[in-house]
Amino acid sequence: MDLNWVLEEYNGIVYVSDMNTYEIKYMNRVARRVCGITAEELEQKRLKCYEVFQGLDRPCPFCTNQYLKENDFYEWEYQNLHLNRSFLLKDRKFMWEGCEARIEFATDVTEYRSKIANREHVRDSVLKSLPGGIARVDARDLRTILWYGANYLSMIGYTKEQFEQELHSQCTYVHPDDLDRVTMMMSELKKKGGIAMLEMKIITRSGEVRTLTTTLSYEDGETSEDGIPSFYSVGIDITETKNQQIRQQNALKEAYDAARRANQAKTDFLSSMSHDIRTPMNAILGMTSIAEAHVDNPFKIKECLKKINDSSKHLLNLINEVLDMSKIESGKMELNESEFGIADLVRNVFGLCRPLILEQKHQLQIDISAVAHEKIIGDKERLQQVLVNILTNAIKYTNPGGRIKFKIKERPTHVSDISLFSFLFEDNGIGMSEEFVSQIFEPFSRAEDSRTNQTQGTGLGMAISHNLIHMMNGSIFVDSKIGQGSCFTVTVPLKLRFSTEEMIHDLEGKTILVVDDERDTCENTCLLLEQLGMKGKWALNGREAISEIVQAHETGNDFFAIILDWVIPETKGEETVKKIRAQAGPDIPIIIASGYDYSSIEEELIRAEVNGFITKPLFKSEILKVLRQFTNEKIKKKDSEICFTTENGLNGIRLLLVEDNEINREIAQELLNMMGASVETAQNGREALEKFCNSGLEYYHIILMDIQMPVMNGLEATEAIRALERPDAKTVPILAMTANAFSEDILEVKKAGMNEHITKPVEPDTLMHVIQKWRSVTC
Ligand code: ADP
Repeated sequence: MDLNWVLEEYNGIVYVSDMNTYEIKYMNRVARRVCGITAEELEQKRLKCYEVFQGLDRPCPFCTNQYLKENDFYEWEYQNLHLNRSFLLKDRKFMWEGCEARIEFATDVTEYRSKIANREHVRDSVLKSLPGGIARVDARDLRTILWYGANYLSMIGYTKEQFEQELHSQCTYVHPDDLDRVTMMMSELKKKGGIAMLEMKIITRSGEVRTLTTTLSYEDGETSEDGIPSFYSVGIDITETKNQQIRQQNALKEAYDAARRANQAKTDFLSSMSHDIRTPMNAILGMTSIAEAHVDNPFKIKECLKKINDSSKHLLNLINEVLDMSKIESGKMELNESEFGIADLVRNVFGLCRPLILEQKHQLQIDISAVAHEKIIGDKERLQQVLVNILTNAIKYTNPGGRIKFKIKERPTHVSDISLFSFLFEDNGIGMSEEFVSQIFEPFSRAEDSRTNQTQGTGLGMAISHNLIHMMNGSIFVDSKIGQGSCFTVTVPLKLRFSTEEMIHDLEGKTILVVDDERDTCENTCLLLEQLGMKGKWALNGREAISEIVQAHETGNDFFAIILDWVIPETKGEETVKKIRAQAGPDIPIIIASGYDYSSIEEELIRAEVNGFITKPLFKSEILKVLRQFTNEKIKKKDSEICFTTENGLNGIRLLLVEDNEINREIAQELLNMMGASVETAQNGREALEKFCNSGLEYYHIILMDIQMPVMNGLEATEAIRALERPDAKTVPILAMTANAFSEDILEVKKAGMNEHITKPVEPDTLMHVIQKWRSVTC
């Protein structure tokens, strides 16, 4: 049967050639068209297969005739550069018209190939853009990597060679922590099929642990092209995201913990606050009732009043701390800088704390010899508040009879007019645990300790101090050991105000005898004297002092002055002075140095006929101030000559007190009267304005004005007074006396034209001081 028509109609290329001569015996229609040959040409020209298909003049070097067998096809693929096409080929040997021939069926796959090439190109681009790598893992051993792509190698940190030689192309880089889980998951997937997603850690070649998120898809051997069951896996490195997530989680947890702690602390605070408020309130009410029941017993009444006073002060402190904390938390706390002396600051701090120190019988050591500059600029009140708080804690949290050391150090900074001042407080008290120290600055925190619980406190002082010192660009450092004691160091940069009066030529070279039973105090004072250009000698008791005085007299080098500690163990101050005076004669000034307040020993000092008084700790400026008094005149031993200024009260001052609250008005009037002032009152701003209008020129020396009042408030009244057409309307000092203690209240007060702000409840001394100040400004 002639089947040529079948070949002729076949859609692919078919040709037959003589295997020995390569002559083409037949070409179907498609073959002729692809090669551009007509049927006539084929018949006439006896063309060879290598000429037609390869454009060669001799048999192809890759001719496949040698591989052809009877009854079997030889299949191959070839890209024909001559025809610029790709073919899938099937060749077979057979007899064609009596000669040994080869028949070739060729399918043109050029289009198909280029489509595949395009797809591969697209796939490569997609893979390259993957933020990770892909791999095919052999599902038989769950570890051999059959194939990998994208950024697989860079993700695990190996080069191709390192991966093959060191890891033997296996995924042994999976972190041991995750290995079992990953293996189990793959085994499961192998059984059930499908896709799984997991997170796992790997160890890169450099030892870094990274986290990948991986998808795995299983393909069994039957459907895979090479018959190997495998997992196709895509891994993406999520280490950075994961770390960020962990950081965020930690931050959240910390914030949560802090909020929880703060909340807990606030709850604890409220419950202890209600206790802390009730306790002094109870004392105040109770003591008032007791006093009422004993109106005829002045001793009992005095005792009750003292207790009422103590409890009120404690209550006030509580309120102040809560207010300060709320100011800090709402960002309303502001610093108020002015010039002040370190000596003043330290005197105030110890003045406030000395009664407590004496009560607790603590031993106090002070070293201020390293202070080079005493005049500085800063917020004295706030610095004082911090120092008082730390010193009070040292006193409170140290068992009676303890030891407290205080030291100031001054260090220069790279800015010539700023020094770094460190205030050190060291106690040998109950101390704190390391854990508690790490949270000591958190509001409301108090150590869980029976001794702390027995001590009154809010747990706010340190938080307030910490914030204040930070506002001053300083720091607080706490070193503490439970049962051994604590050391607090407050360091703040402070501007220096250089004073010209620090050297007095008349005192240069003079020798001063310092008598104190504390060796450190003697040495420190002599150091200060030397820094001032004088000479210092010291003695630890009266006996030694007398022998120094005698010796000095015999050599004709009498002391210029004697600075004598009031309390030295052997004898009473008064006696020591008398003995020394007997030896030193009437002309050598004896200056008493004491930590006590002058007024508490005034009588004894006058009796002992001393010439000067100086408060401990001794500062250069104080020493100079007192010694300077003795450079010109001969000393006179009269009490009026003692280096000390007594206040003259408010004698001769006429005040207008404007206050709506009857009790407050009565208290203020009584206090002012006790200080010697004559007081007229008004119940609101309108009444005050009328009284001022109806008074003669400069009749009232000072007006004390409450702010919140009915009819006309203090701000409006002040504005109205200042607007009056009379000469003293602008000058009369108007002082606000109000419970509104926030800084914006103070600003408002100033804006309305008032001169100063006094916070209620009013401290009698502060009130007197402020009134005296404004009286001296205007008269
Ligand atoms: P408080 O009003 O309770 O004294 P603070 O804020 O001043 O509050 O102090 C917080 C806590 O720090 C105190 O309750 C106490 O537990 C601890 N503390 C502070 N100073 C000392 C110190 N010098 N020695 C031992 N504990 C201290």
